[in-house]
Amino acid sequence: MLEVRGLKAWYGEAQALDGVDLDVAEGEVVTLVGRNGAGKTTLLRSLIGLHRHVAGSVRLAGTELAGLPAHRRARLGLGWVQDDRGIYASLDVEENLLLPPVVSDRAWPLEKVYEAFPVLAERRRAAGTTLSGGEQQMLAIARVLRTGSRLLLLDEPTEGLAPVIVHRIGEIIREVKAAGVTVLLIEQNVKFAATVADSHYLLAQGRIVAHLGNEEFQAREAELLEHLGV
Ligand code: ATP
Repeated sequence: MLEVRGLKAWYGEAQALDGVDLDVAEGEVVTLVGRNGAGKTTLLRSLIGLHRHVAGSVRLAGTELAGLPAHRRARLGLGWVQDDRGIYASLDVEENLLLPPVVSDRAWPLEKVYEAFPVLAERRRAAGTTLSGGEQQMLAIARVLRTGSRLLLLDEPTEGLAPVIVHRIGEIIREVKAAGVTVLLIEQNVKFAATVADSHYLLAQGRIVAHLGNEEFQAREAELLEHLGV
């Protein structure tokens, strides 16, 4: 579904990504882990088309995205859940859900969203700002599912959330996977990553240093925690 080859990125003269190769097969959940400054956000922004000082190839379902602006990539099915969740504060939950453009026939109708996220149905008339962090995260994910994206890119969805909500976000990612959506997840929380993903890419200093299946990832958890400094 997603094939990244030789992706490089710069900030001025400073190189932040140095030839990243990464694959996410259709229907998989894959995480990208790495310590602060490893280049995770740069990689995500380069995939989405928000960071333009790049070289290399990014293919989504066989279509080359390199050089395309962010809105074209979104239309091709690249769905992004921002780390600040990007909820429109002046709109209520349902208005937020009705906003995104539909990009494919995979788009979730409102009823399906409310079935999967009953809390959003309960709060459909609540303003975006009055939602808890966990509810905002659910709304942000639901909004991308509404578009019918093929690939969901999640940027640290558990950051700052209470354990019970983190658990719920894990369930949601598994539900999203079960619904056939492919997921690439940036995650610092190694324990959480192990509960949701099929495999994990480790990024260090702008390079992929390992690609581990989930079993190996779990077996090496202590070492990884030390490596990541978390
Ligand atoms: P974090 O989890 O802290 O966000 P990260 O893994 O997402 O870290 P990036 O933010 O992608 O890492 O940063 C990768 C490298 O690029 C770092 O060396 C960082 O200092 C540098 N960098 C990031 N943003 C900029 C910028 N706007 N200008 C210059 N250098 C930057």
